[in-house]
Amino acid sequence: MVEYEVVIGLEMHVQLKTKSKMWCGCANEFGASPNTNVCPVCLGLPGVLPVANEEGLRQTALAGLLLNCEVTRYAKFDRKNYFYPDAPKNYQITQFDKPSTQHGYVDFEFNGLGSVNGMSRVRITRAHLEEDVGKNFHFDRQSGVDFNRAGVPLLEIVSEPDITSPDMAYEYLNALKDILVYGGVSDCDMEKGMVRCDVNVSVRPKGAKELGAKIEIKNMNSFSGARRALEYEIPRQIEVVSKGGKLSQETRRWDDPSGMTEMMRSKEQAHDYRYFPEPDLMPFAPDAAWIAAVQKRVVELPLARKQRFMRDYQLPAPDAQTFVWDVPLGAYFEGVAKGAKNTKAIANWVINNLRAKLTESAATLADLKFKPDAIHELVALVDSGKISSKIAQEVFAEMFASGDAPAVIVEKKGLAQVSDTGAIEKFCDDAIAANPKSAADFKAGNANALNFLKGQVMKASKGKANPALVGEILERKLKG
Ligand code: ADP
Ligand code: MG
Ligand code: ZN
Repeated sequence: MVEYEVVIGLEMHVQLKTKSKMWCGCANEFGASPNTNVCPVCLGLPGVLPVANEEGLRQTALAGLLLNCEVTRYAKFDRKNYFYPDAPKNYQITQFDKPSTQHGYVDFEFNGLGSVNGMSRVRITRAHLEEDVGKNFHFDRQSGVDFNRAGVPLLEIVSEPDITSPDMAYEYLNALKDILVYGGVSDCDMEKGMVRCDVNVSVRPKGAKELGAKIEIKNMNSFSGARRALEYEIPRQIEVVSKGGKLSQETRRWDDPSGMTEMMRSKEQAHDYRYFPEPDLMPFAPDAAWIAAVQKRVVELPLARKQRFMRDYQLPAPDAQTFVWDVPLGAYFEGVAKGAKNTKAIANWVINNLRAKLTESAATLADLKFKPDAIHELVALVDSGKISSKIAQEVFAEMFASGDAPAVIVEKKGLAQVSDTGAIEKFCDDAIAANPKSAADFKAGNANALNFLKGQVMKASKGKANPALVGEILERKLKG
């Protein structure tokens, strides 16, 4: 039996996060009434001229830098011609042979074929700038087109065929999205149609040099949909070739309700886009200073940040991930944890307590009444046994409310843990006297009975007795 391997390459289209459209001043805004963000330029009326939105060019270059691409000093724009009702100009402005940025890669957490230490890499062929088209709506007896989206800047990110499974495709798409959102290039809101992708997939006998016939599944609008389409399409292709059939290059459509792909057009029916240079736009030739200014906007990427938090503060992955997604909280944590010993305890306070309190009181970090040092102090009080971790919760709530230092609160409220044996002995004697049955049970070998007595002592001491000490003393008294 012949074994087959899968080859996948993805093209992702994301809307850039500019205020206005790419070639005119209309708002780049989702949700406006149909055809309210339109003008002669984005409606493609005769005689109008496009003017490039510089922020769109910057975001394109920035995306390239975030994807480890080179940003070229010479890019140009081309017309891709086709005739659809949603493209009023009858062409789309794009970048054909001289894209703004190319030859990069994305590293992401995925354990699969060819991964190293749980990390995988997909090379980026290019990321180029183009424009979105309008959106068709079909009603009972008519159709309509909303051109609000026409002319919105789109970044097309093309991967090399480095992906080897539907799961890897899914993780790659998510990693890409995380990078773009984090880098401030796109909101990547799937619900608002800001991200679409084309999935290219082929199969070949394992170890074969040549790629199999490329099947492209167009216009997927969710990552899970892309994964499901691949999960359907791969066995379909393997079945054809393993029965001696031949696949040829074609474009297919994913039908979500039926969970199947269906043929749209074959290679022979493929569009001839008749690309030619856009005569109304100058080539784009940024100088070193322009690129350097964009370089300044490069931020630490989500994965690098996660790895740094895990390494520098010995945090488990979920904690580090929390600080990746809540950037201000992560920055606050870092401010507290720098140079501290018990960084995991600090992370616990920040994630479990501070974050919850902030949400509960609809406050932000800027509203905090206590100083970051207070968290150190609190951790030290617990670590030294001065207060129990249960009491520490109370201290935290109080320091959040009043801004007082933990030691002050402990002093004022008399919360210090009682490690004074005399006082604890007394509580233990009382508990044994009041619960003779539990005492007898313990003596008869029921270890659980001790926990009950321990609980009674803790209650009597209002949580201040040192629990370890309580256990010891109770045991001594009952056994003795
Ligand atoms: P086209 O010119 O038809 O757009 P490209 O060569 O630009 O095709 O490739 C488009 C996408 O398809 C890229 O992401 C690329 O990695 C992927 N790709 C190309 N050939 C194959 C193949 N045989 N199997 C799977 N993916 C492929
Ligand atoms: Mg292509
Ligand atoms: Zn416009």
